[in-house]
Amino acid sequence: MASNSEMQTLWQESLQNNYGTPSITLTHGKGASVWDVEGKEYLDFLGGIATNILGHAHPKVVSAITEQANELGHVSNLYSHPRSIELAEKLKDLTGQSSARVFFCNSGAEANEAALKLSRLTGRSKLVSTVGSFHGRTIGALSLTGQSSKQKPFRPLLKKVKFIPFNDIGAAKKTITKRVAMVIVEPIQGENGVVVPDFGYLKALRDLTTRHGVLLVLDCVQTGMGRTGEWFGYESEGIVPDVITLAKGLGGGLPLGAMIAIGNSAQLFEPGSHGSTFGGNPIACASALAAISVLENENLLVRNKALELTLKLELSKSPLVESVRGAGLLLGIVLKLDIAKKLAQELQAAGVLVNATSESLIRIAPPLVVTDKQVSDFIKIFREVSAKHER
Ligand SMILES: *Cc1c(COP(=O)(O)O)cnc(C)c1O
Repeated sequence: MASNSEMQTLWQESLQNNYGTPSITLTHGKGASVWDVEGKEYLDFLGGIATNILGHAHPKVVSAITEQANELGHVSNLYSHPRSIELAEKLKDLTGQSSARVFFCNSGAEANEAALKLSRLTGRSKLVSTVGSFHGRTIGALSLTGQSSKQKPFRPLLKKVKFIPFNDIGAAKKTITKRVAMVIVEPIQGENGVVVPDFGYLKALRDLTTRHGVLLVLDCVQTGMGRTGEWFGYESEGIVPDVITLAKGLGGGLPLGAMIAIGNSAQLFEPGSHGSTFGGNPIACASALAAISVLENENLLVRNKALELTLKLELSKSPLVESVRGAGLLLGIVLKLDIAKKLAQELQAAGVLVNATSESLIRIAPPLVVTDKQVSDFIKIFREVSAKHER
């Protein structure tokens, strides 16, 4: 049997170092459990970074993928395919907007790139994003990402991007004018440490963008597909955005992204405007359709809200925890000490996968199929491991 350290050596000899060498190599999983190459089991409370919405090897997803692979794996966009039409119809239904039209791609960055290109067709070119945001790593998406450490080595990036503080309506009022093409914002800033804006912030942005004819793009790549207990993560504000971008949980674990445009913006792209060879791939769409039907049939969005309350209540009891923020199963555990990276390693050693987005924040984003027992096991292990750091 191979060891994690042998795999590290092989990894270093064949892969570029843009991620840093991963400490473990995972080989298989089931639901919210996953195993490494040495046979050690982990409770997966990160879900491939908010991506494995139904965990690992969900039977409905596996059979949808298998059936589709047996029938037709790829058609390109010169031809249509029933699964991509079905999925577009489904997403349109979930937005509740009959004017919604979908563009499929393969990742979050690509979905935001598509939104960026769409915004150019308004005839305006100024862009507004928020400090601390994350919208992807391509040059366009990186230009919209409000984290200078990620941008710096790659400058020059796109010009005319203005970053306003997140959750600051006053700053938005000063910045959003008739010359702005689009405002892009996450309903909850995920990579920045699960930062939740005040209720009413998105509504205020909607009002301002509507007044000035600016596209409001909601980057729901991380908050989408039921993760927050809503389909996209903005619905409780009672607003309708111009554009929704999706990826991560959308494909049920397969690479799939979408840029959904609503209203007039749905008519901006014309033949030749944009494209993606793999976008809307039948297998990825079949996987997404299967995942959505499980989420619906098993009422997982409703259950999600109940698990949120349990996790917030129980984790807050740990003396190391300052607070727990977020929505549904996208939660940020704020620590009183700057030991999040160390704690994440200790949790991994204790058989739990989480991630530290900063020195003081642990992010959890388990699959929505996590069992009640797995949730209580997680709470128990978290409290045991964090107890070592309490004074
Ligand atoms: C992960 C993420 C992206 C980028 O998605 P990729 O698939 O890695 O390109 C964009 N926006 C948000 C909010 C994300 O969380």
